[in-house]
Amino acid sequence: MTNQIQIEQASKIVCDLHQELVKNNLVVWTGGNISQRIKFADGSSDLFVIKPSGISYESLRPADMVVCDLDGNVIEGNHKPSSDTAAHAYVYRNMPEVGGVVHTHSNYATAWAAIGEPIPCVLTAIADEFGGEIPIGPFAKIGDDSIGRGIVETLTGHRSPAVLMQSHGVFTIGATGKDAVKAAVMCEDAAKTVFIARQLGNPLPISQADINSLHTRYQNVYGN
Ligand SMILES: [Zn+2]
Repeated sequence: MTNQIQIEQASKIVCDLHQELVKNNLVVWTGGNISQRIKFADGSSDLFVIKPSGISYESLRPADMVVCDLDGNVIEGNHKPSSDTAAHAYVYRNMPEVGGVVHTHSNYATAWAAIGEPIPCVLTAIADEFGGEIPIGPFAKIGDDSIGRGIVETLTGHRSPAVLMQSHGVFTIGATGKDAVKAAVMCEDAAKTVFIARQLGNPLPISQADINSLHTRYQNVYGN
């Protein structure tokens, strides 16, 4: 395959995945964005595809996607890349195992971000997917590397593929764009259920030993 075919395939995948954000009620208007690292046949993986800035979800087409290098410079595309491109680029530069990044302001998860509180691991589904609490990252303003740095510092060495950036919203990572979208969907679901549980009383903790065995089984045996 030539590099161009791989770029086109990744653009189609990233474009299609954006419809999952809409279907799962994770975004409004043009908010939210997904990117995926492009892995070329020669083993290089120093480019990624990301959503363009300010284009409605209904009219997004694969050809609208923007190809950037790991410094966030546009390599190919007819539109401006997402305003969160610097954060995605920072993650790809510093976490070579990451192949997909998602950002949303999904309501329930962002409510936890607003109060600066991690989502506690009080459901087996949270232990499965996140391996513990879903952590809070620092308050960081758009415009430099501070959002990307906050994501990388929080998620490095952490089992969770999701971070709640304080007073902002959710960033998730995965081996692919699809994995990162799944984490974003599960994060919102966990945020919502634990919120509801809090209205009923105090959610019961799960022991660390049980969290560990649930997570290990789900990640290795259950095979997602
Ligand atoms: Zn945002």
